[in-house]
Amino acid sequence: MAAHNVFPESRLPCPSARRELTTKALLTPPKQRIVIVSNRLPIMLDRCDGSGWQAKPSSGGLVAALRPILRERGGLWVGWPGAADVGDTELAEVGEHLAAHDNPRMRAVPLNSEEVDDFYKGFSNGLIWPLFHDMPKICRFSADHWRAYCRVNRKFAEVVAREAAPDDVLWVHDYHLMMLGHELSRLRVSSRRGFFLHIPFPSLELFLELPWRQQIMDSLLSFDLIAFQTDRDRRNFLQCADALGERFVVESNVKLDVRGRFLDRTAADDKAWSDIQIATLPISIDYSRVAKDAASDAVQHRALQLRVDLRGRRMILGVDRLDYTKGIVHRLRAFQLALERHAELRGKITLVQHLVPSREKISDYAKLRCDVEQLVSEINGQFSEPGWVPIHYMYHSLSWEDLLAYYRIASIALITPLKDGMNLVAKEYCAAQVEEHGVLILSEFAGAAAELKTGALLVNPHDIASTAESIYQAFVMPKDERLERMRRLRRTIRNHDVFDWAEAFLSAARKKSARSDARAGITPSSHNHRHGMSRA
Ligand code: UDP
Repeated sequence: MAAHNVFPESRLPCPSARRELTTKALLTPPKQRIVIVSNRLPIMLDRCDGSGWQAKPSSGGLVAALRPILRERGGLWVGWPGAADVGDTELAEVGEHLAAHDNPRMRAVPLNSEEVDDFYKGFSNGLIWPLFHDMPKICRFSADHWRAYCRVNRKFAEVVAREAAPDDVLWVHDYHLMMLGHELSRLRVSSRRGFFLHIPFPSLELFLELPWRQQIMDSLLSFDLIAFQTDRDRRNFLQCADALGERFVVESNVKLDVRGRFLDRTAADDKAWSDIQIATLPISIDYSRVAKDAASDAVQHRALQLRVDLRGRRMILGVDRLDYTKGIVHRLRAFQLALERHAELRGKITLVQHLVPSREKISDYAKLRCDVEQLVSEINGQFSEPGWVPIHYMYHSLSWEDLLAYYRIASIALITPLKDGMNLVAKEYCAAQVEEHGVLILSEFAGAAAELKTGALLVNPHDIASTAESIYQAFVMPKDERLERMRRLRRTIRNHDVFDWAEAFLSAARKKSARSDARAGITPSSHNHRHGMSRA
């Protein structure tokens, strides 16, 4: 295998940011080892012709957020390396290679192509993803896919059971692994376990549509900590747990208390030990790193080039993974309407839309790409003038420097998902706005809206007319107001960065509970004895 540094220097925190990060990390020194379990490892394997496998860094919000934490805190990452049918020898070779290149320690869960089809494309992305993003019409229900989902969750659990020590804290991520709790219990893994859902949690009506709602709910409730991006997701979860609770109470002796926390009835006389914590913990970004990288010479240089290309025009920026939840068609329609209604925008503003390839082999995604490209061409045909094309559309991945340069010079970021767990692009845009002159237009259905509503222009992406007016409002907004709003946004993100998020999750996950003690074979009396406590 060719030698690759899978985490190129450009994606690492700059030295001063790393210093800050270390200081923060030391505030709460790690006591237990962290085992992160997520569908994807922070690398992707690619088969290269004749020379075996090549490891590349994975993209996406989850990986971007967790990589620096594990790098700083130590621990292990368990996940799928992103390629089907990789042999054990090849996996071992890649593992050795990665260990030699200062990457986090990893254990790969190999999946065959049928599992990738049924567990990943089928159940996770063909059913859970659209259902949890309020798009039930495109859900594909299949009992075969459900069986594959359970089988693959079992595979993950077996790797975790081999690797995890009782003192470890397991940090399980996202919708691909909702049955992991059940499988870990079955294998009697006693480590404390927390689950973080990166995507929204659906309303009761939608969750009840799942034929396997009870199994999924029971499995989620076997975690010691379950955390969501927003209060709305948390409330939805509590409502679902409450609705499915009767059977759950009978089977597992668990009930919901008035504050929305679950209490284990077997230890009801000692509530402090028995809580399952249900928390709202919005994910964030490495603010210092984004701000410092955005101010670097390389990004400054790239931004200057882009400014020259714009020839004095202002830029509206869209950066999205190809996904129907991102509201790209709605956004293009709103831009079209803004140009129709406000002729003064024509020739003065350019929408730069970057679409990052994703899940291209799933038919809904391939169709979305066609729809977007058709609409871009329609709008460009309608408004282009000599020397001005209203939409610059690019279907590609960006380098970190290029992405930051776009963030830095964009006058407006137009981020209009129909539903989004968080949307890290919105936070990155603000952090990279070192001149603080840009305006963030943000969908009220992005998780980020809860924190960023005081500085952003919030829009309902289904309301094309009012989104078009927000584009105009952002265009004519006075400089003082733009500065004030952007400063507020940057302050909010700086005060709650990805390290605060991780600290909050890990300190909550470390808390002892009756259930984690019971799994570890510690009885309340032996515990009280050890700590010299007496039970009232
Ligand atoms: N991103 C990337 N490659 C690109 C463009 C963006 O890796 O070409 C990153 C971006 O910096 C951000 C993440 O992808 O950290 C997107 O996260 P977000 O929460 O906005 O959306 P998701 O893709 O997770 O739904």
